Amino acid sequence: MLSTLARRPLGRVAITRPVLQIIPTRHLNNLPASHTDEGTPKNLKSVAVLGGGITGLSAAWYLSKLAPDVPITLYESSNRLGGWLRTKRVKYDGGSVMFETGPRTLRANSVAAMVTLDMIRQLQLEDQLNIVHKEDPSAKNRFIYYANQLNKVPNSVTGTLLGLLTNPVLKGVLRGVLWEYTREQRPKEAIDESVGSFIARRLNDHVADNLVSSVFHGIYAGDIDKLSARAILPKQWRLEGKYGSITRGLLAKNKEQPFEDTALRFEMQQVEENTNLIKAMQNASVFTFKDGIETLSNALVEDLMNSPMVEIRLNDPVEQLVYNWKDSEYPLAIANHSYSHVISTLFGPITNSMLPKHAQTPELRDVEATNVVVVNLFYKTPNLVPKGFGYLLPKSVPEEANPHRVLGVIFDSLAEGESGTKLTVMMGGHWWSHIHPSKYPNEIELTLMARDTLRMHLGIHEIPVASYCAVNKDCIPQYYMGHEYKMMTVHKSLKRNFHGRVAVAGPTYAGVGVHDCIRSARATIQGWLDNNGEYTGLERQMRDDWVDISKFDMTKEENQPTEEEIKWMDEQRSRK
Ligand SMILES: Cc1cc2nc3c(=O)[nH]c(=O)nc-3n(C[C@H](O)[C@H](O)[C@H](O)COP(=O)(O)OP(=O)(O)OC[C@H]3O[C@@H](n4cnc5c(N)ncnc54)[C@H](O)[C@@H]3O)c2cc1C
Repeated sequence: MLSTLARRPLGRVAITRPVLQIIPTRHLNNLPASHTDEGTPKNLKSVAVLGGGITGLSAAWYLSKLAPDVPITLYESSNRLGGWLRTKRVKYDGGSVMFETGPRTLRANSVAAMVTLDMIRQLQLEDQLNIVHKEDPSAKNRFIYYANQLNKVPNSVTGTLLGLLTNPVLKGVLRGVLWEYTREQRPKEAIDESVGSFIARRLNDHVADNLVSSVFHGIYAGDIDKLSARAILPKQWRLEGKYGSITRGLLAKNKEQPFEDTALRFEMQQVEENTNLIKAMQNASVFTFKDGIETLSNALVEDLMNSPMVEIRLNDPVEQLVYNWKDSEYPLAIANHSYSHVISTLFGPITNSMLPKHAQTPELRDVEATNVVVVNLFYKTPNLVPKGFGYLLPKSVPEEANPHRVLGVIFDSLAEGESGTKLTVMMGGHWWSHIHPSKYPNEIELTLMARDTLRMHLGIHEIPVASYCAVNKDCIPQYYMGHEYKMMTVHKSLKRNFHGRVAVAGPTYAGVGVHDCIRSARATIQGWLDNNGEYTGLERQMRDDWVDISKFDMTKEENQPTEEEIKWMDEQRSRK
């Protein structure tokens, strides 16, 4: 049941803010039991991987490493691999410049990052990395465009204290944090809420509409008044549930993390070969690849091409998946090829449409995604912008100050041999959700709109020597309210209809970043191997077991792993 707050006028932006969503708790039942690691299951005879983006390539790669005898067929509808990972070299009079049309920077410190780093090490790509130190201006200086100026987001205690008093974006933060503990706790039966409503309720509208909405423009190109707090801010959501307030939870030094995160961190730290790379990232903010993000997908492709068990089918879109339950060995068919298992890494609604009618679910069909227009620009003059990561725009900025609905501008770092200023303008997202991409302005017009914005916000009048425009359709799935419960329904449907032979991975489900995609691919393959070939990839979302990470501090004697745990770790390692 959705209820909405009354429309509030806010500059020229009117916001409808859906509040708490109530879903019956019966959806919480039937959580899966954990299984033990028993090696490659006998029924895992041949696997089709759908999609040749980073998730599909990772899934095929993990499978080829962990179960090298299993034949793998990777289907890709286009004529190239890598999906949104796309590095373009654009020529101009006197040189060329490297542009990223999709992802470019990867976070250095997170559990999911450890999985990517482990993959990078195995692919021997360590020397291809550009590691950006936390203190580097390009990491430290992040801006929000608000009140017709760039406002620096503080990155130190002094900066924060000063900013709380002087920075217009931070107005309301101090008041919100100080009084947060006095705010009424959400009703017990509330199981989800929009991010906007959650932040406004716990802190205040100003924090939600300015600080938080801009961050979510940067990650999801999405609307905080639709995105799910439970799915996207699980820690904060949980702290309110447990302590009645986020600040009270933080003051209680709550160190709980999802069990899966804790176990994964532990597993990755146990791989000795990862130690140097994980250490190198400790003081880093993000990392990129010197020759562009495609370095990663290209290395995976190269490895896969060297495996005699892997077949890659380009220009081969999958339209239908047929399931013949009478065939216990190869029950799944794509055109006239049969498989024992299929993993789909395609956008949820596409996956849903290819399933047999009885296995389709409205929950998967109705997942939405935003379109993002990316305009890359290169100027001959260096230092046209302050040193920094770039700036984001909150939803509160009135249309006259952001007429082309720019979500954010990235101040790209220069690749070797480049001299000038490189910028990426991202436009559209949820702001253009009412416009069909076929009705978007053409690429020349979009580029002019990006330049117009840079002129307005940064005073850049120069004509770029090189530019590139990409319209990325349905590129960032949106986790709207109730997302986790909807995915539980999808899990149950896949399990009931295919007994774990059809699995899913990718940004539709639990995290839209590159790290999340790689992690989900690995978890799904590992899930098949550990669960007798029966896994949907959505089991993680069925679990609600958080554990205190201080118990996993290995420097304490009482936390040393037991013999059984050491044996399990050794088995994991010998598989790699
Ligand atoms: C503009 C942009 C910027 C981003 N920035 C960052 C960032 O800085 N950091 C970060 O961590 N993440 C970022 N992301 C998110 C991240 O890049 C994506 O979530 C991730 O690349 C998704 O990979 P994927 O393999 O799951 O999907 P995709 O890349 O979409 O791959 C799916 C593949 O399946 C193919 N396909 C489609 N239909 C079929 C079919 N019927 N049969 C066979 N094949 C099919 C497609 O052609 C495609 O190659 C960004 C995303 C975008 C779009």
